Amino acid sequence: MITPFDDNFKLENRSLVMYRLVDCHLYGKTHIIISMDNPSFDTILPMPDLSMAKRILCIQPHYDDNDIGAGATLAALQEKGAELIYLTVTNDLMGVMDASLSPTEAAETLKRDQAAAANIIGVKEQIWLGYPDAGEYDYFQVWRDLLKHIRMVKPDFIFAPDPWLTYEAHRDHYTTGLAAASAASLFGLTKIPSSDPAVDSTYEPHNLLGIAFYFTREPNYFSGVDATWEKKVEAVKCYKAQFDPDGMEQLLFALDFKARQFAERHGCDRAEGLKVLNTTSLHCGI
Ligand SMILES: [Zn+2]
Repeated sequence: MITPFDDNFKLENRSLVMYRLVDCHLYGKTHIIISMDNPSFDTILPMPDLSMAKRILCIQPHYDDNDIGAGATLAALQEKGAELIYLTVTNDLMGVMDASLSPTEAAETLKRDQAAAANIIGVKEQIWLGYPDAGEYDYFQVWRDLLKHIRMVKPDFIFAPDPWLTYEAHRDHYTTGLAAASAASLFGLTKIPSSDPAVDSTYEPHNLLGIAFYFTREPNYFSGVDATWEKKVEAVKCYKAQFDPDGMEQLLFALDFKARQFAERHGCDRAEGLKVLNTTSLHCGI
């Protein structure tokens, strides 16, 4: 049973749009925006409530992406009681600047930086998959590893980079984002084997509320982060192995600029822009 209510309102760009409120017995109250000027057919499913997240699996291609993309939001959720589990897909060795370090020493340096940042954000646990940074590896192996870890960790929210970010050229980013999105959509189908049969055989179904993509050009959620912005800045500053002082200054400037841009018209000084979706929306444009 779907009951539509039509209404008209003006967006801030003054184009007249039709706002259709829909009460659906399957999905609850939701809305569809239809504009003749700029058609937008967004998901019909209500946006999951990120503030309800209590156990978050944050899937990143490299050691620093979660914090650069969403560190202030994650710190705020941690302060409200959420557990943060970070999963890093690649070994991140290509970006280490000090060429005199052996791969083992470089890996230790990265983990030291990451542990210092984790201490600031409040990360409870780190998982490393160790795929070669910017190298050749199989999408399906990553995907099956993510199925395994979603079934093990049982998160109620997943964070990942948006694999559909236009002009994203780094394969690690869109491979990780796509594998995370697909695994978030399909982990409940236990006939699909993960990379660990022992995990599959003992998995008990759990509820994943939604997925939040950072590094997105289509944010639908603007997370006001004035209270935790300094935590994010201090955490990002910990990633010394991959940024010289000039590079770090440029990165922090860019993050500050984007955060102020996202905050416009949202009643705060800085915000992180996220695409927050019900995982059912990750298939066939529902
Ligand atoms: Zn990255």
